[in-house]
Amino acid sequence: MSNRLSEIQSNLEIIQARIESACTVAGRDISEITLIAVTKTYPASDVDLLKQLGIENVGENRDQEASAKKLEVKSEFKWHFIGQLQSNKAKSVVNYADLIHSVDRWSLAKEIQKSAQGIDKMQQVLIQVDLDQSGPDPTRGGIWPAELRELAQLINQASHLELKGLMSVAPLGEKPELAFARLKEIRVDFLKENPGAQILSAGMSDDLESAILHGATHLRIGSALLGERPKIG
Ligand SMILES: *Cc1c(COP(=O)(O)O)cnc(C)c1O
Repeated sequence: MSNRLSEIQSNLEIIQARIESACTVAGRDISEITLIAVTKTYPASDVDLLKQLGIENVGENRDQEASAKKLEVKSEFKWHFIGQLQSNKAKSVVNYADLIHSVDRWSLAKEIQKSAQGIDKMQQVLIQVDLDQSGPDPTRGGIWPAELRELAQLINQASHLELKGLMSVAPLGEKPELAFARLKEIRVDFLKENPGAQILSAGMSDDLESAILHGATHLRIGSALLGERPKIG
């Protein structure tokens, strides 16, 4: 086994143990949890190693990097687009993303719809919710909870968009437990009107336990699995 493979494997074992104990605490079954390996900044060769470890879902946050890597990766994966998305990149992302997590405005959803219609694809999407109470954080994205209902209604009316659930990133400067507790309440109301949209994408390397406690179904794990990323701008 290569060094890199065994390194990722031992990281994965630690993460799986964390997920198991968090599920025990939360009284949930681990089959409810999908692990998305966030491979941004890591090469296609690492992505192919993940397949050997049984990982089926990978996430990327920049279109330029993701579209190039998708072409290089040999194994089949479910590709998740998790980063902030400019409307002019929608067309490219629709070409390879199985699930787009970061829809936070109708102008973007409309572009995704147009592109999906153009290639006759039903595009699965999540709405990203902004949990920051100290004001909008333009570097993280997300819609205000007060505007969620209207955006969900518009997406539901779009012929080539399928709303699958919600996504969020715990804000900086607040305990993730508090933010995820608000997310859980927001989701209760959301599910009343969107009962089929059961995905909750929340939880990263440092806060997966509290995300599981508050209902996360999809975890987005980067550094705990692949190592600390070099800082990029
Ligand atoms: C990078 C990234 C992650 C993974 O973060 P880690 O702390 O490395 O696990 C999750 N979600 C989004 C939106 C990201 O950009």
